[in-house]
Amino acid sequence: MTTSIIGYPRIGAQRELKFATEKFFKKELSEADLQAVAATQRQANWQKQAAAGIDFIASNDFSFYDTTLDTAFALNIVPKRYQELAVSPLERYFAAARGHQSEAGDVKALAMKKWFNTNYHYMVPEFDDGTEIKLDLTKLLSEYREALALGITTKPVLIGPFTLLKLIRFTGQTQLSDVQEDFVKAYSEILSVLATEEVAWLQLDEPGLVFDLTESDIHLFKAIYTALLPQKQTVKVLLQTYFGDVRDVYSDLIQLDFDGIGLDFVEGRKTAELIQTHGFPADKKLFAGVVNGKNIWRNDYQKTLEILQTLPKDSLIISTSCSLQHVPYTVSAEPELPQDILRHFAFAEEKLLELKDLNDIFYHGQVDSLTANQALFASERYQGNQAVQAKVAALGEADFTRTPTFAQREAIQKDIFQLPKLPTTTIGSFPQTADVRKNRLSYKRGDITKAAYDTFNQEKTKEWIKWQEAVGFDILVHGEFERNDMVEYFGEKLDGYVFTKNAWVQSYGTRCVKPPIVWGDIARVQPLSVADSVYAQSLTDKPLKGMLTGPVTILNWSFPREDISLKASTLQIALAIQEEVLDLEQNGIKIIQIDEAALREKLPLRQTDWNSEYLDWAIPAFRLVHAKVAPETQIHTHMCYSEFTDIIPAIDAMDADVISFEASRSDLSILDALQANGFRTQSGPGVYDIHSPRIPSVEEIQNVIRQILTKVPAEKLWINPDCGLKTRGVTEVKASLENLVKATQDIRAVL
Ligand code: GLN
Ligand code: ZN
Repeated sequence: MTTSIIGYPRIGAQRELKFATEKFFKKELSEADLQAVAATQRQANWQKQAAAGIDFIASNDFSFYDTTLDTAFALNIVPKRYQELAVSPLERYFAAARGHQSEAGDVKALAMKKWFNTNYHYMVPEFDDGTEIKLDLTKLLSEYREALALGITTKPVLIGPFTLLKLIRFTGQTQLSDVQEDFVKAYSEILSVLATEEVAWLQLDEPGLVFDLTESDIHLFKAIYTALLPQKQTVKVLLQTYFGDVRDVYSDLIQLDFDGIGLDFVEGRKTAELIQTHGFPADKKLFAGVVNGKNIWRNDYQKTLEILQTLPKDSLIISTSCSLQHVPYTVSAEPELPQDILRHFAFAEEKLLELKDLNDIFYHGQVDSLTANQALFASERYQGNQAVQAKVAALGEADFTRTPTFAQREAIQKDIFQLPKLPTTTIGSFPQTADVRKNRLSYKRGDITKAAYDTFNQEKTKEWIKWQEAVGFDILVHGEFERNDMVEYFGEKLDGYVFTKNAWVQSYGTRCVKPPIVWGDIARVQPLSVADSVYAQSLTDKPLKGMLTGPVTILNWSFPREDISLKASTLQIALAIQEEVLDLEQNGIKIIQIDEAALREKLPLRQTDWNSEYLDWAIPAFRLVHAKVAPETQIHTHMCYSEFTDIIPAIDAMDADVISFEASRSDLSILDALQANGFRTQSGPGVYDIHSPRIPSVEEIQNVIRQILTKVPAEKLWINPDCGLKTRGVTEVKASLENLVKATQDIRAVL
């Protein structure tokens, strides 16, 4: 037993689960049919892993929405508002994930947050005073048995008690310390159920251990496992960590009675050193995460072998650095890319083979795959662009500084735009309805001409511009109908990117993204958005917001190179977007929004590394994009799910004129932080949650606005939804936005 998988993608190689689930949401598919699609996906995953000869195959890594939510449901950590709904268990689960509106009741979804430093999002479990921990292992057990029936023995996976406790939001009187014992009891019971089931190994995911831990965190971790591990009976427990190293608890955790410890050698900068310094106990298995679970490049076998050679050979299990859910299914679904490029990639399926290769080289001295791999790494691979490299090298302080100061620009812009108080706007995209997607598809297939394609999109823009004017929005948008995705769209027009057809990765629930791959130096070789914005502006006298994606987000939502630094790649992208910003300005676009939806994505998990490792270059990269525009040009930015309470000074230092961000799902708690930090950038905290199909009423939105006004001065406040609307339906969008404008106008009248 020498190879292990932490988790596998689950949306389906052709996104089968996504499509089936969405049909279920629309009541076009029965629950039984959805379950059948799910079972087929699970089966395919297990069989792939088994065929590749993986020894430790994961189960219960499947999810209809999110595995943290699954673990919360397994423990009955389900707020009363969902318990009370008269719906089926699966519908209750989806109600917690995405809200629910029917005769059975009207409830909001749980909050959703970024999963550590990935672009995956998890549902934040809520513990209210009515919550009573009770086990329901139906899902875990049935999936385990399902695999067993196929002749495949798996190790079930759950989020571990420490991480789950740290992720939960306690909404009532109950506190973490009150439930610690109940947690131990529940997980003990899980162990005893699994023992009865003759499960050999249980994997408990504890990525919560890779943060900077406090004394009390360490104490909590030790207390939980000291109490829990004696209860494990015949079940072996694998403590699985990922996304970094566990420097704060390593010396403690090796003393605990785990049977296996999973460590990350890719993102864990200190993992190897910890083992050198403190050793690794002979009675445990070391699950060494050496194959990168997050990026798509082939593993460099030589380098990996050098790591493996320093580790205790007899205890070693070769593993990925994290779940493979963060990479696409398989390179073989990309027949249109040349072999020259493809041979450098390893998606989930190919990573299984890499584990197998490494195993065969390391344990059985098979050198063929090693030789081939060495040849691959010796070959010329990236496409260079010396002009771009020279531009980046020549950048100086002035390139990163916009003049005049924020306050001076604010005065100038107030004068020019003459906007009402609480200006209303949207984040950019309008629904990408079936006809919009069909138009794109027909064009891609060559069924219609570019002119026909453009005309269709222009008609859409025209309709929505008229609609925005009629409803009374102050700043309009063109609707982004030409964009499949806010990163891919730009990547496709930039030089230096490579695109895939089927390389989807789950972002949240049924939402997937297809990150482009940074293949070489990035350069702008054509305008990216100018024609669409200029056309839309020509239709209206109201200001139109040009829409761009910022350099940090473009990089963070791409698969980055591994041969140059993230900073170097980001600055290249920033220079390209800067050219576009100046081009828009030259063409009469007076307001430009540069989305940094994913700014926080690569923020190091350890706060001690935030500035030196990331913010010190990411924030200047954003400034580089707009530093050269005139004071009259208003720069907006937008962030999603950005819990940025803790980086507010950095956000202000982006020096945008206006920022919109997600707020409605996080209880508006960020507003206190804005106030406390004297946030100077004008802001539009989203007044309703667009990630749910619910339509907020005028009163509901007014309540939110009033609440915001207690924290943000009216002169600095913008009113907008909390994200783009491209995934929503037209009816709900129109109704919600009409309510938003109406709510704003009423409040404005009494301000
Ligand atoms: N402008 C983009 C849109 O409206 C922003 C999307 C996002 O923040 N994820 O779709
Ligand atoms: Zn957003």
